[in-house]
Amino acid sequence: MCSFGARGGVHVSPVSKPGDYSSPTPPLFSKLHRKIANQRKDFHHKLARRLVNRYGTIVHEDLNILGLARSRTAKGVLDAGWAQFLAILAYKAEEAGRRVVGVDPKHTSQDCPVCGHREKKPLWVREFTCPACRASLHRDVAAAINILARARTEPSGMDTAVAVP
Ligand SMILES: [Zn+2]
Repeated sequence: MCSFGARGGVHVSPVSKPGDYSSPTPPLFSKLHRKIANQRKDFHHKLARRLVNRYGTIVHEDLNILGLARSRTAKGVLDAGWAQFLAILAYKAEEAGRRVVGVDPKHTSQDCPVCGHREKKPLWVREFTCPACRASLHRDVAAAINILARARTEPSGMDTAVAVP
């Protein structure tokens, strides 16, 4: 059962063991879940609107290539949120005459955007210096540069992507 504590905290005690689907979802838990889902959707709409207003072309890693194999993992749950955002983004972009491009995500976080040197880095490495050309970049910035470059060079990157997995 799920209840709201006197001081506003949320207490959730387990009603069933993992994998036991015989118990119905407690109504309050379901309500809370719906509220979070709605907040997330609202955030997706606002972010997509901001991107579409600001940019003519929006490039992202292609989810079709990225994650169908892991649809049952925790990462797969994250991908579901990502898929929802991309669907909203594709819809708003089309409406506004903007381009949304999905590119192959392979090695986007491993390649140096300056010289192309490829090196696998652990996830905790946020800032990296390329051992080949000494370029020093934040991991996400480097990946973003690689993703954008692929949209310019990959033949598939020139099509407008339909962002639904
Ligand atoms: Zn380099």
